[in-house]
Amino acid sequence: MKAIGVSPSRREVKLVDHPEPKLAAPDEVKLRMLDVGVCGTDKEICAFQYGTPPSGSEYIVLGHESLGEIVEVGKGVTRIKVGDLVISTVRRPCPHATCASCVHDRQDFCFTGDFTERGIKQQHGYMTELVVDREKYMNPVPRALRDVAVLVEPLTIAEKALIQVWDVQERLPWTPAAGRGKGHRAVVLGAGPVGLLGAMALQIRGFTTYVYSLEPEESPNAAAAKAIGATYVCAAATPIGDLPGKIGNIDLVYEATGAAQVAFELLKVLGTNGVFVLTGVPGRKGPIQLDADLLMRNLVLKNQLVFGTVNAGRDAFEAAIKDLSRFVERWPSAVRSLITRRYPLDAFADVLLGRPGGIKNVFSIEARS
Ligand SMILES: [Zn+2]
Ligand SMILES: [Zn+2]
Repeated sequence: MKAIGVSPSRREVKLVDHPEPKLAAPDEVKLRMLDVGVCGTDKEICAFQYGTPPSGSEYIVLGHESLGEIVEVGKGVTRIKVGDLVISTVRRPCPHATCASCVHDRQDFCFTGDFTERGIKQQHGYMTELVVDREKYMNPVPRALRDVAVLVEPLTIAEKALIQVWDVQERLPWTPAAGRGKGHRAVVLGAGPVGLLGAMALQIRGFTTYVYSLEPEESPNAAAAKAIGATYVCAAATPIGDLPGKIGNIDLVYEATGAAQVAFELLKVLGTNGVFVLTGVPGRKGPIQLDADLLMRNLVLKNQLVFGTVNAGRDAFEAAIKDLSRFVERWPSAVRSLITRRYPLDAFADVLLGRPGGIKNVFSIEARS
């Protein structure tokens, strides 16, 4: 069957003839892949910056932002049935019994670094026709979300971040348990899919949300931010130092660019009791200058917290599926506008090696005859 394979040793991205997988254990399911999203991680793997094939394979099948339909289930499968639409988690546990996170199915917090990831690290991904995986990694999604469900995985980044933000902000005596974002101001750094989905998650929780990014005011990214009631602030027109004057106390920053310089500029203006969440992975460049005295003074005197977050567990996938339904109800066309175009797997060169533009491009895997 067809698959998009990346071979780091040969420095090749190509359509490969990948063997069809078969159920091998009672808790396994077989999926027919429907949609697989493309993100910066995929492009970096195609530029051979990282990405490791499974042992014994010369290539890795790319793709981690998936939507599949169950076509076969093993004897021991109870939670899922044929015909269900599912989103698969990406990370798989490390083999060490001493890793408390992986032992408890929280490999997104793996201590050892020996986890694997589908489509990224030592496990084949989803840009292919059929996939076999374990039931426990499947997250059922309502059929009503069929056309946008491929956005669930990138949304899980924000969901995991927000779960942690609530944990942290329980420290504030006045944080109300319900309507948690109300009266609070959030800045989303970056108007790509991760940023815009994060902005939707913040809006729906009552935050007053600002999206700060490079794209011009008339870009589809800015339009999507405005369509959900966020304020779009174009970086070309407003320096970061002007943001507090415009916004007031910045309670939360959700960083989604991977640009270190801009992120640390923004950290300088984080408000009192503010939380700054980093989700982007910067490329390996030279060191940058930081006003460390100012940052440290602010962190202490303003009770600030900075944390990074990667990947997501089952709780974040379930929250993302729930939230996506709410987004579609509230902003149907804005949510759909995030998906720019669908391509067949054969168009891999244009999508992965070219500059197809737009917000989120998706491979649609045509049904097998
Ligand atoms: Zn991704
Ligand atoms: Zn682990």
